[in-house]
Amino acid sequence: MTATNLIHSFSHLFFPHICSGCGSDLINDGQLICLQCSESLSTTQFAAHQNNPVEKIFRGRIGITNAMGLLYFTKDSVLQNLLHEFKYRGKKEIGFYFGKMMGNALIKSNLYNNIDALIPLPLFSSKEKIRGYNQATVLCEGVSEIMNVPVLKNTIIRAIATETQTRKNRIERWQNIEGKFEVKDSKSIQNKHILLIDDVVTTGATLESCAMELLRVEGTKVSIGTLAYTST
Ligand SMILES: [Zn+2]
Repeated sequence: MTATNLIHSFSHLFFPHICSGCGSDLINDGQLICLQCSESLSTTQFAAHQNNPVEKIFRGRIGITNAMGLLYFTKDSVLQNLLHEFKYRGKKEIGFYFGKMMGNALIKSNLYNNIDALIPLPLFSSKEKIRGYNQATVLCEGVSEIMNVPVLKNTIIRAIATETQTRKNRIERWQNIEGKFEVKDSKSIQNKHILLIDDVVTTGATLESCAMELLRVEGTKVSIGTLAYTST
């Protein structure tokens, strides 16, 4: 056995050669998904343009700088499979792969070249304990590798409000269930342009309330980056 073959066999031991999207074994070394799956992902080009559909979600609601979503999300798609494996089956490598893909789209755009730090949308700590990780943090780590900016994991947290639910009106009750965001370390983001990251954006309500808290800190600017965008 040649040295190259030996290394090849070792890499098969540690990285089973099966596409994470469809299970096919037609996959190149070092790749996570096969060519067919990779071609089925539909990229938006939103990172390069202002006034894109993700930015329009937030316009008039909150003063963000830019917003993007990398891929169009559709039901029963390869992307849905991959997101499921990533979020519920512990396949962090899928998130890291997608994070790097986001990072590559962001560095090609001149709208994101003054980002100082990445912040993952916080999960409830109980949820994070069950899952073992926050999927947004994994995405941030991939983005960070490409953009070379730090990930701030403990700057803002999410906590369930504990006051009694009965006396609240509908909106307040909803806010209680969704939790409130609380900046724990405002110094770390003062006068900085933050990219707030999450996996999927639909109505944007949760990202909006998180961004609102970040914007209360002196001199901050907030942009929003999501892996997938869905209008339904
Ligand atoms: Zn595949």
